[in-house]
Amino acid sequence: MIRENLEEVRGKIKAACQRAGREEGAVTLIAVSKTKPLEDLREAYEAGARDFGENKVQELTEKIPEMPKDVRWHMIGHLQRNKVKYIVGKVYMIHGVDSLRLAEEISKEAVKQGVSVRILMEVNVAQEETKFGISVAEAPLLAEQIAKLPGISLQGLMTIAPYVDDPEENREIFAKLRQLAVDISRKNIDNICMNVLSMGMTGDYEVAIEEGATYVRVGTGIFGERNYQI
Ligand SMILES: *Cc1c(COP(=O)(O)O)cnc(C)c1O
Repeated sequence: MIRENLEEVRGKIKAACQRAGREEGAVTLIAVSKTKPLEDLREAYEAGARDFGENKVQELTEKIPEMPKDVRWHMIGHLQRNKVKYIVGKVYMIHGVDSLRLAEEISKEAVKQGVSVRILMEVNVAQEETKFGISVAEAPLLAEQIAKLPGISLQGLMTIAPYVDDPEENREIFAKLRQLAVDISRKNIDNICMNVLSMGMTGDYEVAIEEGATYVRVGTGIFGERNYQI
């Protein structure tokens, strides 16, 4: 089933790229495997998935050694500063950076390990109280501050849009994130780039692609409903 789901999602990504006049290769599918057992991840891997997303440090660090080395792991959840040391050097990208203190902690650990860590700034475009992420207004200053830190490479922006029945309702949010990336890149800040837009989940990734997403994070659409009992 996972293979069929992956093929269906890939087909929809391709169609969305065509509608938007974008190249198919411009969008990377992240298979969000949180709560899912290793056998499911392996099935997705066999079907060609190489980018996996997890939102809990413990689950992530347990899964990493069990999967092939060419998997790119994406930490997509909220990251606590005291857990940074467990994932630096192990993940391909950290998506949820929303404070200078967290960025400083990542920088400190990266320098200690002699590595460079790719990160995205999480922006709460929808201004939902329950969500993490900085506001659109605060983002440019945080980008400038992060740019000065060693061991960190800011690559772009991430947002989590609200859960909606009609994905069209989130179009404006995705467009705002893209515009914010344009505004920040116009500042020509050294040591950062705004090439990555991580936006869109199972319910709305096609709209996100039409609005410029370069990473879409799809869980349920690939693996089915999550197993929260484990
Ligand atoms: C769980 C999760 C996803 C995937 O959600 P689905 O609706 O199952 O596709 C995407 N992004 C983040 C940050 C998540 O926590």
